[in-house]
Amino acid sequence: MVNNKKFYVTTAIDYVNAPPHCGHAFEKIIADAIVRWYKLKGKDVWFLTGTDENAQKNAQVAKEQGIPVQKFVDKNSKLFIELCKKLNIDYDDFIKTTEKRHVKVAQEIFKKVYDKGEIYKGKYEGHYCKGCESFITEKELVNGKCPEHDKKPEWLSEEAYFFKLSKYRNQIIKFIENYIIPVSRKKEILSRLKNEELRNLCVSRSNLNWGIDSPIDKDFKIYVWLDALTNYLTGASGNWPADIHVIGKNLIICWL
Ligand SMILES: [Zn+2]
Repeated sequence: MVNNKKFYVTTAIDYVNAPPHCGHAFEKIIADAIVRWYKLKGKDVWFLTGTDENAQKNAQVAKEQGIPVQKFVDKNSKLFIELCKKLNIDYDDFIKTTEKRHVKVAQEIFKKVYDKGEIYKGKYEGHYCKGCESFITEKELVNGKCPEHDKKPEWLSEEAYFFKLSKYRNQIIKFIENYIIPVSRKKEILSRLKNEELRNLCVSRSNLNWGIDSPIDKDFKIYVWLDALTNYLTGASGNWPADIHVIGKNLIICWL
């Protein structure tokens, strides 16, 4: 079979709880410049960008504004599409993670990973920051508050599903050694991986009315990070794996 895979470039998908700012523009312009460079070199390129819409934060802000959540995320997602138009960002596909095509892929992947025994049910307890949409370790707290949001996190205890991330430590290290640039960021993340414990990743949330349903347990939603990451598969259009992911430095660190 002839391999028709295109050179595949992605960006982070943007949170739609607020309108775009210049950081979003910066990332898209960089990605677009890379795409144009490869096109000049004669490559066939597939360029994907989009918006991350299943976060609980969206449901909260929509409620505050008295708008249905889907309407709210659609409204803000449009602003990101307009931003791309204004900047002449030449993407091939714009993915919204509330689209049916994405929900289907996110659920299929979750199910596949579960069926392989890589996801298990356990219990999660800890400090949860709504702003970060994640648990924060004791060590990360500053004066009992999330350093990023300057807010006291809630204490949360819940049944949850976990992905056996720690099992893949060596593979992740190997991957990062080969791929991340600039080197300073690579060193930063490698030093954390080598010096800190890599915990299993909580991949579900309960008691939410917004998000993608877990395909294996109706009481749970798929954790928004896991659903967001699979957008690169949903939008790959046969070009998987991606050749370049352009992403903010905080997003690399977030996963550990
Ligand atoms: Zn926070």
